[in-house]
Amino acid sequence: MNSQEKRIAIIGAGPGGLTLARILQQGGLAPVIYEQETSPAERQQGGTLDLDEQTGQKALQAAGLLGSFRSICRYEGQALKITDKKGTVFAETEPEKLTDHGRPEIDRTELRRLLLQSLKTDTIKWGHKLSHAVPLEKGGHKLEFENGHTDVFDLIIAADGAFSRVRPLLSDAPVEYSGISMIELHIMNAAADFPDLAGFHGTGSMYALDDRKAIMAQLNGDGTVRVYLCFAAGRYWIDENDIDYDQPEEAKQKLLELFEDWSDDLKHYIQYAGETILPRRLYSLPVQHKWEHKQGVTLIGDAAHLMTPFAGAGANLTMLDAAELGLSILHNADTDKAVKQYEEKMFAYAEETAAETGSHMKTFFSESAAQKIGAMMNAF
Ligand SMILES: Cc1cc2nc3c(=O)[nH]c(=O)nc-3n(C[C@H](O)[C@H](O)[C@H](O)COP(=O)(O)OP(=O)(O)OC[C@H]3O[C@@H](n4cnc5c(N)ncnc54)[C@H](O)[C@@H]3O)c2cc1C
Repeated sequence: MNSQEKRIAIIGAGPGGLTLARILQQGGLAPVIYEQETSPAERQQGGTLDLDEQTGQKALQAAGLLGSFRSICRYEGQALKITDKKGTVFAETEPEKLTDHGRPEIDRTELRRLLLQSLKTDTIKWGHKLSHAVPLEKGGHKLEFENGHTDVFDLIIAADGAFSRVRPLLSDAPVEYSGISMIELHIMNAAADFPDLAGFHGTGSMYALDDRKAIMAQLNGDGTVRVYLCFAAGRYWIDENDIDYDQPEEAKQKLLELFEDWSDDLKHYIQYAGETILPRRLYSLPVQHKWEHKQGVTLIGDAAHLMTPFAGAGANLTMLDAAELGLSILHNADTDKAVKQYEEKMFAYAEETAAETGSHMKTFFSESAAQKIGAMMNAF
């Protein structure tokens, strides 16, 4: 059976699943996406992403959406400043580098909107949380959803993120705690309400690195500054640190104590934050994660190569996977061969990026981190 005749299911409407569906549709195929969220508005999609020319933007080009992306992305969002806890700046993007090359920013909500608008009506089955994918003796897989729906497909592509329900069919690799926990805060209307912070922050991101901690903050397109307080900490620290995340004022006081000897400019990122306080652990898959090819099922994105965000690579790679797999299916009469070719190519580039991400993470939480990351940035 060739790809035109195959029934293809994509699990997950994240950046990977949506990009893949768009590329397949452009080639005349009719994939179905199953997404656990009940509508595009169910969940805040998160912060801003910088899309790289060689990965995220390359995928948008394959999807025929690069022009639309370029008309809405934020080139000034590429600005990055690196400081230590005193606020001493070790590297800062020069304004002339904020051009239409490199890695312009787009809010996740905007990227999702761009991709959703590009798909045919009814491509996505919202409110379908996959329970199991069951291999069938005659080939293909039966999908079973928590809402009772079932269906059979020739090819299942899992784009269902870190805790993929499909991954166990291919791999028993463990998703491991990375050793880094984050507490996310939001500062709304920073420019209007907190001009001192907005002036210090600039138009893009600010990373303050010291004492095996970090304040990583990014200005989003809607004027919110998202703040990620990062800690090299044990697996259970976010549960056992005596911070009540439902009591924002008290929680912020406790967080300020953890950054007591950091500069006032940096403490403002905690003091000015609103009531949203989101704790999370960062996880990853092993750097060399691979699996033996099996007919009728594969993985893309975080489902295939979950990594921490310290090289800003995850969303970019999931989109690259979508392009590599989508184009391979469209250009190859034998779908199984197409999937195998994608897997072999992806294993190589994902391993390289995962190793780089791991190395960046170690540096972020090492002695003199701001000096080291600043030097890396200045050498670039
Ligand atoms: C704090 C943080 C900051 C980050 N910053 C960056 C950055 O700057 N740049 C970058 O490139 N990457 C970044 N990343 C990584 C990036 O978010 C991920 O790599 C990317 O979102 C992965 O895309 P995906 O499509 O593979 O999976 P996801 O984005 O996780 O999407 C998976 C989709 O599948 C759905 N789903 C899950 N389970 C099921 C199920 N059982 N049934 C049906 N649907 C299901 C989910 O609801 C979701 O819509 C960051 C990550 C974090 C945590």
